[in-house]
This record gives sequence, structure tokens and C-alpha cells, in this order.
Amino acid sequence: MASTLIGRQAVVVGAGMAGLPAARALADYFEHVIVLERDTLPFDATQRAGTPQARHTHGLLAGGQQALAELFPGFEQDLAGAGAVPVRVGLDLRFEMPGFDPFPRRDLGVIAYAMSRPLVEFTARQRVKRHANIAIRENCRAQDVVVASGGTTVSAVRFENSKGESETLAADLIVEASGRGNLTLGLLESTGQPLPEETVIGVDIGYATAVFAIPDNAPADWMSLMIFDPPAEGGLAGIMLPLERNRWIMTLVGHHGHKPPGDWDGFLAYAQQLRTRTIYNAIKGAERLGGVARFGFPASVRRHFDRLEKFPPGLLPFGDAICRFNPVYGQGMSVAAQEACLLRELLRRRGKETGPLAGLAPAFFAEAETLIETPWALAAIPDYAVPETEGDRPDDLEQTLEFGAGLVQLAATDAQVHKLWTEVLHLLKPQSVLRDPEIVERVKALAAQA
Ligand SMILES: Cc1cc2nc3c(=O)[nH]c(=O)nc-3n(C[C@H](O)[C@H](O)[C@H](O)COP(=O)(O)OP(=O)(O)OC[C@H]3O[C@@H](n4cnc5c(N)ncnc54)[C@H](O)[C@@H]3O)c2cc1C
Repeated sequence: MASTLIGRQAVVVGAGMAGLPAARALADYFEHVIVLERDTLPFDATQRAGTPQARHTHGLLAGGQQALAELFPGFEQDLAGAGAVPVRVGLDLRFEMPGFDPFPRRDLGVIAYAMSRPLVEFTARQRVKRHANIAIRENCRAQDVVVASGGTTVSAVRFENSKGESETLAADLIVEASGRGNLTLGLLESTGQPLPEETVIGVDIGYATAVFAIPDNAPADWMSLMIFDPPAEGGLAGIMLPLERNRWIMTLVGHHGHKPPGDWDGFLAYAQQLRTRTIYNAIKGAERLGGVARFGFPASVRRHFDRLEKFPPGLLPFGDAICRFNPVYGQGMSVAAQEACLLRELLRRRGKETGPLAGLAPAFFAEAETLIETPWALAAIPDYAVPETEGDRPDDLEQTLEFGAGLVQLAATDAQVHKLWTEVLHLLKPQSVLRDPEIVERVKALAAQA
């Protein structure tokens, strides 16, 4: 390992689903990796204060699962051992969408594990802890990053430690995986540098989530369920996944003036308003475990760090700090894991050069754009179809929506296209594969028939 080292110490801010994979990626290339986390971390797969979204459905896409398994070999077995439920995507998942109640079901050969967000994070944390050169410091809140005197290179992070004292930690590289990106934006602002341009899609989403014991009389023909109403009619959605310990988690999603309520009667009434009764019928008699949790998500935000002319060396924003995706599509953890694979690959490639950390951030931003492109487009296009969504709609939105609708029709009748479409939705393949000329021709032919 000694020959691969390119720095003495790296610091990761945040032990969430971006920070943990990032720490793993750094561990092969730095003597020490320190993860600073403001929370007290639980000894098991339970909730904690710093990630309030973890009370809601958190689907791990097959592409994210694959990336986590690359970083932590045997990760799927760890998940299975901890009680995560294997779901054969396309077969065990009942997908109800306009025109298809349900969408034709087929075994597409893709398995995605379903579990709570605390379980996937706990599993990743346990794997990170096996690395002797990674230390997680809990109850440490990062305050700002420090630039080396007389230069622009970030050389340390200042934080409040578990005793409430101020401490400074020197680092060759600081990865900000704090969710919000405040350290990075704060540094750019305080040093008079331009902030990245942002693409903001005002989706104004409300989430309400409840957990249930899976009843003995649960439907035998599906394990997981997704119901989407037409975007033009408000786009209500219901998402239900199995969890470890024989539970279901069920999230209702509404937009703008029509968000699901936080009381049980209101929750149940809202479930009745979905286009089909599948969710309502499943939960109406099921035993509820705990109350109804709510979450508001005003906007998806993509920061274009790649467009900045320069960026302070020694610093790297990561995960949600770069792009916060509309959670309905279940992409954030998966994209963060893929970014960690990218970071590891860049460090491997650059390790052979002199000054490998100089220029790391711009190289990362450029390649991360390619990773982000597909999930962003998959979410943005249907989001823009909701009339109240705020943001700059692309000029070709109508054509893209029409193509998407045609593609769904084709996927319903053709197992190969269904598989390809699913692989794109699960971030196993880029969206461009769906623009294959033969597929485009067949979609056009279907549209002409219609
Ligand atoms: C309602 C909702 C549902 C979602 N559903 C899904 C889903 O189904 N699938 C999916 O893949 N993604 C989902 N996401 C997104 C997912 O939660 C994130 O994309 C993912 O957790 C990666 O985020 P992150 O690690 O960058 O940030 P976070 O998960 O927010 O983690 C940030 C970490 O940094 C810590 N921290 C913050 N500030 C400091 C500081 N100053 N010092 C030290 N530590 C700090 C926090 O305590 C936390 O541990 C959802 C998000 C929301 C809001």
C-alpha cells in the first residue's frame, strides 16, 4: 500500500451516505483519513438527529448497490445478513403508473436490496470501521476550512470537538460531505471567489411516512409498490418498500398545495386519493409502528462547480453538497456511492503524477457531471411536467415527454427494452442507451400508430 500513498491526511466532513464511501475511497491513498461527524453515532441501525430524512423511504438503486460493493466487497451479503430484503426489480416490485395498473412484470435479472436508511448507513459505517487508517470522530462539528497563509490552498478544517473546544486539523484534502455544502460556499464567499451557478427546480414536495408490521394476509404477488399519478394532474405518489424485521415503510408524496398530512386519519385519507387502492388496501388493517413523519423538500439543486474558472485546491464538495436530487426517484445515495468510485479512480490515475492533488477538484467536477447527467434528467423531465414546478423548462420538453411516454409503451411489450429502461432508472447505464436509433425508430412507429 505504501507505494499508492499520495498524502498524509485527508478529512471528510459528514459520516452520511456520501461521507462514508468517500472515506473508503481515500483510505487507499492517504496515511490517515479522519471523518468528522457532528452527531453521536448509534451502535446499531437506528435514527440519529443529523439525517432527519432517514425516517423516510430510502431506496438504494442497483447502480448504487454495485458502487458500494466495489468499495466494500461483499456489501450485498452484509446487507442480507443484517436483514435487508432482496427485491427482484421488475418482478417483486408492483409499478402502477398512468395506463398501467400494474406495469407488466418480468424478472429482469436485477436485484436491489430494500432496507431502512439507518441500516444501509450502519452497514457502510461498520465496513469503514474495519479500515485501520480511518477514524470517525463523533460530536465534532466542522465550522470552516482554513486556507494556507499567503495562498489559496485549503490546508485545514476548524471544528468544535466533543468537549466543546475549538480544534484545527491539518489535511492535504478535505472532502465536504455535510449535505449542504456550507463550508465550501462559505470559503468561496469569504475569499471573494464566485459561487457556482445553480440549476434549481422548485418541486415543493411534501413527504409523509409511516412504518407497518407486514400483516399475515399481505398480498403474495408483490413485495414492493410504487404508484404514480399523472404529473399533469398533480403527480401524487405512494412508495412502499419492505424493511428489515418484517416491516413495510410507506411514503406518500404530494406537491405544492396538496401535501400529505402528519396525522394518521389524514394519512389514510390521503392514501385513498391515489389513483388505485392498492396501497390503501394494504395498510388500512396493518399494525402501525410509530407515528407519521413528515419532510418538506422545496427544490432540487444542482451546483455547477465544473463551470468555475478556478477552485481552491485541497477542497472537494461531495454528494448532496454538489447535487440534491428530488428524493422521489431514490438517487442521492447511489450517485454519492458512484462519486466515491470516481474519486478512487481519479486518485489512482493521478497518483502516478507529480502533485496529484493539484487539479483534482476540477477533474472530479468534470467527470461527476457525467454521473449526474442521467439521474438529473430522469427526475427533471417528469418534474417539469407538473404545472406548478418552478424552473427553466428545456425548449424540447414536450418532445422529451412524448418520447418518454412512447418508450414506456415499448418497454411494456418488449422485455429487452424493459430491461434497458430499468437499468437506466437504476443508474446501471447512461440514459443515452435509450436513444439507440433502433429504439427511437420503434418509439416513433408506436407514436404514429397512436
Ligand atoms: C425525504 C428524503 C428522502 C430521500 N430518499 C432517498 C432515497 O430513496 N434514495 C436515495 O438514494 N436517496 C434518498 N435521499 C437522499 C439521500 O438522503 C442523500 O442523497 C444521501 O444521504 C447523501 O447525502 P449526504 O451524505 O451528502 O448528506 P446527508 O445524508 O445529509 O449527510 C450529511 C452528514 O453530515 C453531517 N454534518 C452536517 N454538517 C456537519 C458539520 N458541520 N460537521 C460535521 N458533520 C456535519 C450530518 O450530521 C450528516 O451525518 C432522500 C432525501 C430526502 C430529503
